[in-house]
Amino acid sequence: MNSANSPTPTPPSSTLSCATGRTRILTGDTPTGTLHLGHWVGSVKRRVELQSSHDCFFIIANMHAFTTRVDRAADIRRDSIEIVRDYLAMGIDPTKSAIFLQSEVPAIAELTFLFAMLLPFNRVMRNPTLKDEIKVKGLGETYSFGFPLYAVGQTADILAFRPTGVPVGEDQVPHLEMTREVARRFNQVFCGVSEHAEDGDHPQLGGTFPIPQADVGAVGRLMGTDGVNKMSKSLNNAIFIADPPKEIQKKVGKIFTGRQSPTDPGNIDNALFQYVDAFVTNPARVAELKDRYSRGDNLGDGHVKQEVAQAINELLEPMRARRSIYEGNDGLIIDILRDGCVRANVVAEETLAMVKDATKLAYFPRRLALG
Ligand code: ATP
Ligand code: MG
Repeated sequence: MNSANSPTPTPPSSTLSCATGRTRILTGDTPTGTLHLGHWVGSVKRRVELQSSHDCFFIIANMHAFTTRVDRAADIRRDSIEIVRDYLAMGIDPTKSAIFLQSEVPAIAELTFLFAMLLPFNRVMRNPTLKDEIKVKGLGETYSFGFPLYAVGQTADILAFRPTGVPVGEDQVPHLEMTREVARRFNQVFCGVSEHAEDGDHPQLGGTFPIPQADVGAVGRLMGTDGVNKMSKSLNNAIFIADPPKEIQKKVGKIFTGRQSPTDPGNIDNALFQYVDAFVTNPARVAELKDRYSRGDNLGDGHVKQEVAQAINELLEPMRARRSIYEGNDGLIIDILRDGCVRANVVAEETLAMVKDATKLAYFPRRLALG
């Protein structure tokens, strides 16, 4: 990673190893907006921890953004670039991790079509995360065919990289469960793996895919500032990584707790105290705040909010500094994406070739080149 005071960030070199034999992980984000604190605690912090010891692939799921933003192509493009800036700000190092665009890895689309045959339609529609999204995003009955298809597509996003681990927030666990089902079914139908085989044994029994595991971050589901829903890019309840200090104070100040007075015994099972747990770094202070709040010991919400806002600003300050290096430099971001796409296509094409072998679709080798 270029450090905060490095004046001239350099694009990564695509000569970096694509296949080092290290354990591989895959995860990513949809450009339906930019990244927020939920992304940090649920997934990105874990990615930063893993990137030195694992081969990391981070997908910008830009095709999936069209499921809810079909009329906003320019916004999807802008947010794709901004999410890469957020990654760099948060400490993802493009010389270690491949950051790539879903739309430039065609094997993913090809695998989506095939995997759609391995999942019963009703199974997809029963996915609780999908159902929840239809409800909270107000999609009603008129969502596109592509909307439920994205859940199938996500199984392809993941399996194209044959990862063992997927760092995600809690809401993605049902998607990962579907991915595990697809991997098992593929290995059983096309590779002769017994349906009684243990998940961990699939690769050595000849299965194309390892059965990947969810790696949920320290806080699997950070609440939004509305105090009701999970923090989400599309629900107007998010504190963004790029928010300036004053905005953080304003947003934290609005967290709804429903408590009336500093002498009311407060319930610490609320969004505000989830933030205390997640962001106030001194454990003794966390314990003291919880104790006084729950006893109603003259500790107002306003005071707790001030400490939370300060803790969040301390977390974000080095990120702001790193982000400023990349501000206004879309060319560098696009270089990073191009390099990531080259590295991602090597692995995804290798997977596709294995899949074609297993499914008797391999007639001749195919080479993919990015111009
Ligand atoms: P959208 O509103 O478009 O669904 P989102 O804010 O839910 O956006 P995603 O791109 O769907 O973000 O999720 C990217 C990753 O971040 C996933 O692994 C997801 O589980 C994780 N994540 C998102 N929101 C939170 C949250 N509030 N707490 C913990 N993890 C989260
Ligand atoms: Mg989401």
